[in-house]
Amino acid sequence: MKQQNIPYKIYLTEDQMPKKWYNLRADMKNKPAPLLNPATHEPMSFDDLRPVFCDELIRQELDDTTAYFDIPDDILSFYKMYRPSPLIRAYCLEEKLKTPAKIYYKFEGNNTSGSHKLNSAIAQAYYAKHQGLRGVTTETGAGQWGTALAMACAYLGLDCKVFMVKGSYEQKPFRREVMRTYGASVTPSPSEETQVGRDLLARFPGTTGSLGCAISEAVEAAASRDGYRYVLGSVLNQVMLHQSIIGLEAKTAMDLYGVKPDVIIGCAGGGSNLGGLIAPFMGQQLRGEAQYRFIAVEPASCPSLTRGVFAYDFCDTGMVCPLAKMYTLGAGFIPSPNHAGGLRYHGMSPTLSQLRADGLLEARSVIQTDVFEAAEQFARVEGILPAPESSHAIKAAMDEAIRCRETGEEETILFGLTGTGYFDMVAYEKFHNHQMSDYIPTDEELQKSFDQLPRI
Ligand SMILES: *Cc1c(COP(=O)(O)O)cnc(C)c1O
Repeated sequence: MKQQNIPYKIYLTEDQMPKKWYNLRADMKNKPAPLLNPATHEPMSFDDLRPVFCDELIRQELDDTTAYFDIPDDILSFYKMYRPSPLIRAYCLEEKLKTPAKIYYKFEGNNTSGSHKLNSAIAQAYYAKHQGLRGVTTETGAGQWGTALAMACAYLGLDCKVFMVKGSYEQKPFRREVMRTYGASVTPSPSEETQVGRDLLARFPGTTGSLGCAISEAVEAAASRDGYRYVLGSVLNQVMLHQSIIGLEAKTAMDLYGVKPDVIIGCAGGGSNLGGLIAPFMGQQLRGEAQYRFIAVEPASCPSLTRGVFAYDFCDTGMVCPLAKMYTLGAGFIPSPNHAGGLRYHGMSPTLSQLRADGLLEARSVIQTDVFEAAEQFARVEGILPAPESSHAIKAAMDEAIRCRETGEEETILFGLTGTGYFDMVAYEKFHNHQMSDYIPTDEELQKSFDQLPRI
């Protein structure tokens, strides 16, 4: 099909909108390794997971054969508030970079929570409500997941209890207040409310916390309350399934206008937006129907895919969660406190990890001052003020576009712009005042952390 009359922004009509999520695992020859029970090292069964997770979400988590899951009508209705997200051609950026490449980005920041996380938040809250639960607990790092979950819970009338990494709780009071506006309760982690939190505070007084610790606290809080379950905003298979809406919309829109991406890029923290964006394209590749390059971009200060090991590890510091086989820096790894760019989780989605191990996913790391420089350039020409996390993908997309300028290749680049950066102005301020540094962990530091990995 000839590429012509393509709108600047491609939206979809109701009948073009995806009605099913796509489960990439169904098309993977090498399935991601199963979650293991931390005590017995046996694969986690449905019953093992029931005290912690919602029933329907466990079914999704454990299913690696069903390719498509119907999206419930209530979730489709919720989507009407903020989906489809626009697929935008970055004409101004292309011009600025003088590149022959065509750059498209899928922008997920057009909802109040400001990121793609709402896509899984509404799904998880829906299944919790459907099961007749009273509420959910969770952790949040930078605050996007907590905000998204608070929005979804408010819509459905569910109680929402958020453990927020203390560093962010103090640095991002606005996010905290958005969550409270939507009715969530927010506790800085580590806290005195849980055994895990109390133990950690005793060992490391003054710690600014970590996602791994906040996860342990949220799991403990759910397990010790009637009618509550724990929900997680990234890493898990179920989250990637819900986030496939990003890739499905992008692919439908590109197919409509005969555009085929050559390179697909996303930032990777726990892997959910990247996994969701690439899902239908990767599915085609796995089925032998098309070829693409897929690139995961992560911070040099928290480089799980590029410098981590592919091994079973704990998903949390408190070692209460199942073990997952993934690229990991070790559950005890805490990124340097001067790291402001998000994406600070120690591990990576088991599905993306398997794709990486199988050579299907490229990975690269970028330093944070380069990321903020790219963010600023992008904001000045495209208008959108990007989240630091998203800006990792911007940086890599710009590098690919510059490569095309040098080689003259007219490639089509698609990247995921996961969110807005309005609540990240403290980090931007540090960048502007030249107070931002680039800390890259040494091999010795990483080795110390690897030495603590469980022996499976
Ligand atoms: C949480 C978040 C990410 C990283 O999470 P993934 O699970 O790797 O997608 C990226 N961008 C934004 C804006 C986020 O809020």
